[in-house]
Amino acid sequence: KQYTPDDIREMVSKEDVRFLRLMFTDLLGTAKNVEVPISQLDQLLAGKLMFDGSSIDGFVRIEESDMYLKPDLSTWMVFPWGDEHGKVARLTCSVYTSDGEKFVGDPRNNLIRVLKEMKDLGFSDFNIGPEPEFFLFELDENGNPTEKLNDKGSYFDLAPMDLAANVRRDMVLELEKMGFNVEASHHEVAPGQHEIDFEYDNAVVAADHIQTFKMVVKTVARRYGLYATFMPKPLNGVNGSGMHMNMSLFDKDGNNAFYDENGEGGLSQTAYYFLGGILKHAQALTAICNPTVNSYKRLVPGFEAPVYIAWSGANRSPMVRVPIARGKGTRLELRSVDPSANPYLAIAAILEAGLDGIRNKIEPDEPIDRNIYRMDGKELKLDHIKKLPATLHNALLDLQEDSVMEDALGSHIYQNFLDAKNMEWTAYSQNVSQWERERYLDML
Ligand code: ADP
Ligand code: MG
Ligand code: MG
Ligand code: MG
Ligand code: MG
Repeated sequence: KQYTPDDIREMVSKEDVRFLRLMFTDLLGTAKNVEVPISQLDQLLAGKLMFDGSSIDGFVRIEESDMYLKPDLSTWMVFPWGDEHGKVARLTCSVYTSDGEKFVGDPRNNLIRVLKEMKDLGFSDFNIGPEPEFFLFELDENGNPTEKLNDKGSYFDLAPMDLAANVRRDMVLELEKMGFNVEASHHEVAPGQHEIDFEYDNAVVAADHIQTFKMVVKTVARRYGLYATFMPKPLNGVNGSGMHMNMSLFDKDGNNAFYDENGEGGLSQTAYYFLGGILKHAQALTAICNPTVNSYKRLVPGFEAPVYIAWSGANRSPMVRVPIARGKGTRLELRSVDPSANPYLAIAAILEAGLDGIRNKIEPDEPIDRNIYRMDGKELKLDHIKKLPATLHNALLDLQEDSVMEDALGSHIYQNFLDAKNMEWTAYSQNVSQWERERYLDML
């Protein structure tokens, strides 16, 4: 809802809000909070609230450190957990430079910029429905996460196996109080693993929701002595956590532009081109949608995560699936994304890839309706099926070669992202792991 400054003032006094939590997201996807007392409200509403951007990783250089936070008033939300010091409300903010320009290194500003390109092509909304998965581990007596899972449940198990059902229900209730439309919540395949799905919304709201979602899930988990982690592959030998992204474009009349009653399989030409763009940029896209070393331990055969660059309307194994819903629910589901991704960057990159497909009329290859994992090397070659990058390093090399992905992030974020992630890879590749000692120490 679009609130005016006066609406905000009214809600502050009606709800007796004492603190404002100002949220924005850094390059790596970490939600940053600046909490100010309510006395700063007028400064904030006037767009004059300053903070020091140089302390934020990968954000700005020291010499341009003075930044302003300008709140997006439509993101107003009072946290349901009041405490003795008074209620806290949050506002998601855009970062501005001291010259009053939108800061190009702010991932949220960047997503809004890419959405303008979409509007220039005649669409009104990019809808995103995320399916975040997470694990619950027990906390030790010092409040630090352990590697001990809290249950032995499995997919769709019912109580008493699913001991975490109460925790999850509490998470859903808190999310609903914060305005989320939760569609489903269930135990996932691995022990201790869960999924909560909420209704799709336009790209910026969906990304804001993902950031709020993570915070709520972690907060509620702590109440139960648990730690919620969105690490893509925390355990060996069981499924990792993904964050499938369901997506569609709506046109100016609010119709789903991916749907065409008379199109092949009920999909429009727009949907096919968008899909073609995603497949074309899949490799570089992976660096942004799967941005950690650990992400690539999830993208392996045998654990329901995609490994090949392919699409299908019939089975769930490829990177892009077309769920059977048609009409308003017509969508593409990108299954490679994991929850370590910065949602603003991931969504901007996916959209830019799709728009490239539309602009350049990129036709996707034929769908692969067989189970790809059962195909042998020769069959895969005949079908020209390429693999997703196997490591962060390979994905970064692909990202370095993809100018459309540079457009998606803008050159400031693109460069800083590559620098930060290349450093992460270097640190990892120089570290001697326990696995290596176990494998080699007494063998060599
Ligand atoms: P799955 O069958 O893969 O488990 P879910 O039912 O868990 O899928 O999640 C489907 C997601 O897709 C939900 O977030 C839902 O709101 C979203 N969705 C539905 N229609 C659309 C659409 N037109 N565009 C984008 N997302 C959509
Ligand atoms: Mg699901
Ligand atoms: Mg489902
Ligand atoms: Mg799932
Ligand atoms: Mg899914």
